[in-house]
Amino acid sequence: MPETTEFTLKKSKRAKHIRLTISSTGQLVIVVPYTFNLDYLPTILERKKSWIEKSLRDFRQQDREALSGRTIPETIELKAIDTVIRVEIAETADPFLSYLETQNRLFPLTAKPQDSSSSPHGRPATGHKIKVKELPDNILLITASDTASEEILAKINSWLAAKARHILVPWLLALADERGIDVKSVSIRSQQTRWGSCSTSGRISLNKTLLFLPPVLVNHIMLHELCHLKEMNHSKRFWDLLEQEDKNTQLAKSQLKKGWQLVPYWAIGSPYGG
Ligand SMILES: [Zn+2]
Repeated sequence: MPETTEFTLKKSKRAKHIRLTISSTGQLVIVVPYTFNLDYLPTILERKKSWIEKSLRDFRQQDREALSGRTIPETIELKAIDTVIRVEIAETADPFLSYLETQNRLFPLTAKPQDSSSSPHGRPATGHKIKVKELPDNILLITASDTASEEILAKINSWLAAKARHILVPWLLALADERGIDVKSVSIRSQQTRWGSCSTSGRISLNKTLLFLPPVLVNHIMLHELCHLKEMNHSKRFWDLLEQEDKNTQLAKSQLKKGWQLVPYWAIGSPYGG
C-alpha cells in the first residue's frame, strides 16, 4: 500500500463485518466492528491493495462520466417518504476478511486460511456479482466485484422498483379504501413519460419514479388514477371529480409541470433489472 493513500477509519458498534468503501468524495473509508484489532489493518490494506487502487481509479473515471449522467448516484433522495439514502460501494465478500472477523479478538493471526472455498465462512469468488442491500440508517450498500456503472445502475433500479412496490402500493390502496373504491390490481412500472395509468379493465400502474416526488404530488397522481376508475376519460366531469377528491389539485398541476426535473437521469426509463 503506498503510504500516500489516505483513508478514514470508522469503528462501528453496529458493523458485523469489515467494510471497505469509496466515499462520495473519493476517499477510502474502512469500517470495522467496534472491537476489531487494528493491528490487522496493514494486512488488510496490503491484501486489498489492487481493489483499492482500481476503485479509486474508477472513481476518478466516474467523475468524468458524471457529465454524461450515467454515473452512480452518491445519494438518492426519495421525497415521497422524506428520506435521503446514501449509496456506498463495497467490494464483494472476502473469505479472508470474514476469517479475520471471526478470529481477531481471540487468537493471534498465525495462519491464513486457504484461499476462498476452503475457508469455513468463506464463499468462493463469484466473479461478477453485484448485490444491493438497504441497511439501517438509510444506507444502500452495493457489493460489487467490479464497479462498472451500467450494471450497478440496473441493480439500483431494481431495488428502486421493489422499494416503490413496498411504499406506493399500500399508499394507493389506503387512498382507495378511504373512498370505498375497489382496485383490481396495482403494478409498478418504469414508463419514461407517464407517472401512472389506468386500464379500461381497472388496473392501475404507477411509475416507480413517483418516489422522487413530494407526497402532495404522489397523492395527486394516485387520486387521478383512482378517479379514472369512475370516469375513464379526461372530461369536465373527471376534472371536477378529481378536484373534489384532491384539494391540492391546482397546486399539484402546476408543480407537476416540473416534476420530471426531480427524477434523476439514471432512474428514467430504465428496465426493472432482475
Ligand atoms: Zn388521466
